[in-house]
Amino acid sequence: MEQSVIIVGAGIIGAATALQLARGGHRVTVVASGAPDATSAAFGWINASFYLDDDHHHLRAAGIRAWHRLLHDVPAPVAWQGCLCWDMPQAEMEQTYARLRGFDYPVEVIGKAAVSAREPALKTVPERALFFPSEGAASSGDLARAFLAAAQDAGARVISNVAVTGIRTHNGRGVGIETVQGVIAADQVVIAAGTGTTTLVQSIDCTIPLVPRPAYILRTNRQKKILQHILATPDGEIRQEPAGQILMPVSVGHQGDTAEELQQTPHDAADLAMVRLRGLFDGLADARWAEVVRADRPVPQDGLPVVGAVAEGVYVAVLHSGITLGPIIAELIAKDIAGRLDNADAAMIAPYRPQRFAKG
Ligand SMILES: Cc1cc2nc3c(=O)[nH]c(=O)nc-3n(C[C@H](O)[C@H](O)[C@H](O)COP(=O)(O)OP(=O)(O)OC[C@H]3O[C@@H](n4cnc5c(N)ncnc54)[C@H](O)[C@@H]3O)c2cc1C
Repeated sequence: MEQSVIIVGAGIIGAATALQLARGGHRVTVVASGAPDATSAAFGWINASFYLDDDHHHLRAAGIRAWHRLLHDVPAPVAWQGCLCWDMPQAEMEQTYARLRGFDYPVEVIGKAAVSAREPALKTVPERALFFPSEGAASSGDLARAFLAAAQDAGARVISNVAVTGIRTHNGRGVGIETVQGVIAADQVVIAAGTGTTTLVQSIDCTIPLVPRPAYILRTNRQKKILQHILATPDGEIRQEPAGQILMPVSVGHQGDTAEELQQTPHDAADLAMVRLRGLFDGLADARWAEVVRADRPVPQDGLPVVGAVAEGVYVAVLHSGITLGPIIAELIAKDIAGRLDNADAAMIAPYRPQRFAKG
C-alpha cells in the first residue's frame, strides 16, 4: 500500500532508499540536516572480498549484483576496474583465496610479472597478489547525489539543512518527525542518519549502539593516470579518481580499522601517508596531499549492519560499507516496508535486525 515516508538522511543509504521507495509509488520526503556525513568522505570501494562472516560476504556479493541492477537506469559513475590486493602474509592470502573460491567469488592469484603488467608504476612489485576482477569504485558523494536526483525524478522531495530532533509517536507508533519548527507527519519514518542514528532512536527509548570509528582520508593534487586498479597494499588502500586525484584512507587496512581516536593532526597523518604513497609508485614526484577529510564511520557495535523496524512505523538502517551495500539494503528496505520480502530476502536480512541489541 502506498504510504507517506520520511527518510532522515541524504547519505548513500537515505538516497538509495528514497529511490527504491519513490519508484515503488510511495510519497517520499528526504530530510537532511547537513551534518557531516560518511558518504562524501568514503574511499568508494565496492567489494565483497572484505567481510566479517559468511552471511556478511553473501550480503556484500548481493550488493555488487544490486549495483549492476541499479546502474541499468541510474547514471552513476562507477568504474569496475577490479582490485589488486597484497596487504596480507602469504598464508593468509592462500586462505582468503580458498574461502572466496568456496563462495564462488571471482578471485585469481597472479604472479609478479602479471602484477607489474597491470600496475607498471609500482616501484616494488609483490611476488603475488589476489585479483578481484568484479570490484569497483566511485566517488561516493556523486553516487548519493545521482540516487537523490533519480528519486526526485520518481517524485521524491528533499528538505535540506533541517535537523530532525526526534521521532514523534502516538500510542507507540511512529507518526512523523520532530524539528525545531514543528512536526512533519508521515505514515513511516526511515532513519538513515549514519552516526546521528543513536540519538534519534533514543527519542523513542530504543538503543542502537555504535562504536567510535573516526578516520582521515586524503586526496592528492591531480596526477596523470598512473593507477589502473583499486589497490590494497601493506602501505594502505589506494585508488585514482578519473580526474586524477589519488585517494587514500590514512589508516592502513581502513575497512578493519578499530581505532577509537585519531592520534595525529590531519597534517601530520597526511604527511606520513604521503611518504608511504610516494614509496609505492614512480611518477609521483610532484604529488602532494591537497585535502584531508576527517569523518566518523557509522559502525554498529558488532560491526554488522542494523536494518529493520524499531517500532511500528519507524525503520532504521545504519551500517558501515554503505557504498558497497547501499543498493541492496535499499532494495531490502523497500520490500520489507511493503511486506514483500521473499524467503531469500528474509534470510539475507535476518542477521541484521536491530532487536539483537535488545537481547542483553
Ligand atoms: C574514510 C571512510 C572510508 C570509507 N570507505 C568505504 C569504502 O571504501 N566502501 C564502503 O562500502 N564503505 C566505505 N565507508 C563507509 C561508508 O562511507 C558508510 O557506510 C556510508 O557512507 C554510510 O552512509 P549513510 O547514508 O548511512 O550515512 P551518512 O553518509 O553518514 O549520511 C547520514 C545523513 O544523515 C544526516 N543526518 C544525521 N543526523 C541527522 C538529523 N538529526 N537530522 C537530519 N539529518 C541528519 C546527515 O546530514 C547525512 O545526510 C567509508 C567511510 C569512511 C568514513
